[in-house]
Amino acid sequence: MRSTQIHMVNGMLEILVFASWACLATYAIWYSTVAKHYAPITPNDARILWKIHKQSIQCASRKWRVIKRGNRVIGFECECGFKHIQKRPIVSNGPAAYIKSQNSRTSLNKLSTTYKIE
Ligand SMILES: [Zn+2]
Repeated sequence: MRSTQIHMVNGMLEILVFASWACLATYAIWYSTVAKHYAPITPNDARILWKIHKQSIQCASRKWRVIKRGNRVIGFECECGFKHIQKRPIVSNGPAAYIKSQNSRTSLNKLSTTYKIE
């Protein structure tokens, strides 16, 4: 009776281990798919995104640099350690749309979540 119980526990452990490996594998696949979708931006876009970052978290840093992949700019890194990597193409209206959205507080909150780096 007792050994059957232990056997059952072992079986459950195996399932758990398998499940967590499956999760990890799914995550790895998802991550590599997403990572391929970097959207190249211009250095000017990067500068605007950095300014938005400064305003949204009241960041006082004065320095930043572009993050490049090959010779394409894909984001920026702020002096404070904040990094942003552009994964989706910037919306059709271009940088102007970003500047406009700074006026509303809800968009700002949205922006700060969007720009979180994993
Ligand atoms: Zn900063």
